[in-house]
Amino acid sequence: MRRTQVSISLAALRHNLAQVRRLAPNSRVMAAVKANAYGHGLARVALSLAGADGFGVSCIEEALALRQAGITQPITLLEGFFKADELALIAQHRLDLVIHHPNQLDILEQQSLAQSLRVWLKIDTGMHRLGVPPEAAAALWQRIQTHPRLQALGQMTHLACADELGSSMTARQLACFSETTQALGGLKTIANSAGILGWPQCHGDWVRPGIMLYGVSPLLGARAQEHGLLPVMTLRSELIAVKQVAAGESVGYGASWQCPEEMPIGVVAVGYGDGYPRHASTGTPVLLNGREVPLIGRVSMDMICVDLRSQPQAQIGDPVVLWGEGLPVERVAEHAETIAYELLCGVTRRVECIETP
Ligand SMILES: *Cc1c(COP(=O)(O)O)cnc(C)c1O
Repeated sequence: MRRTQVSISLAALRHNLAQVRRLAPNSRVMAAVKANAYGHGLARVALSLAGADGFGVSCIEEALALRQAGITQPITLLEGFFKADELALIAQHRLDLVIHHPNQLDILEQQSLAQSLRVWLKIDTGMHRLGVPPEAAAALWQRIQTHPRLQALGQMTHLACADELGSSMTARQLACFSETTQALGGLKTIANSAGILGWPQCHGDWVRPGIMLYGVSPLLGARAQEHGLLPVMTLRSELIAVKQVAAGESVGYGASWQCPEEMPIGVVAVGYGDGYPRHASTGTPVLLNGREVPLIGRVSMDMICVDLRSQPQAQIGDPVVLWGEGLPVERVAEHAETIAYELLCGVTRRVECIETP
């Protein structure tokens, strides 16, 4: 059997939630578990985060899976509803809505809702993705408050550049949000993980951590360890071949990498078919027997090659960590010109997943 596997440490997950609580002691915690809990398994993650005050997801399918798994905390649909026909299920399962567009409120006013719905109003303070314009916020908030079936929870916004600590954009967004909402009443929620870690002034009533719960730093160039976070996902495999290759010979597709001298090469059973990034460049760190060796040549669908000159004694079956315990996924992402979020979300179904308590 191919030994390519991810393990999910539930203890690390709980530790990271406790760390969020330490960093934002006066805020309630809405754990972002969309996209299969960033690839970690939606139900298992939510059940392990039983201490969270609520969960945030992207769509009703994710929310219903949480209810089916027995989650009773508030669940917020971070993009609201897409079509009016979702509203009956949303009410039945007590899902909270984000209203980010006047169109959604028009629909809610036209429907005869059987049960009341709790809603957040999302304000676009400069990211220009979802959210209503600041100048429209007061009137929309008023419409929510006067709707007989809507319960107005508060206002939210999302930060575009919170991962850059010196960003003037974040300061502008925070000023805009506070000017727009201070007279409105209700709860406030602004901070994703980068906001929690880098901008304590924006913690508000609810924080919305995602990536930091999974033990990854969202801040540019930083590592989770600096924030006291532990990696939750570890992607593992093993060496399936070792060989000696002559000077000047090439390794892998495109013959893109040549041996500068006669040297030992190792083949690891992991590739882009498992979610290991094809753009990981020569030099990407790979942990073999607990020590780093560099990736060489192109990533294949099922395999990568590594330079064994620092471990000439390495053998078939030796353990490899691609990211996680001992090798921050942030570093791999940097070598693959992507972000850790994408790597965590991208592990494919053929990779066996085990959880550790
Ligand atoms: C995904 C998401 C978050 C969490 O973001 P992280 O960067 O993973 O902490 C917070 N808020 C909203 C609206 C989101 O969609």
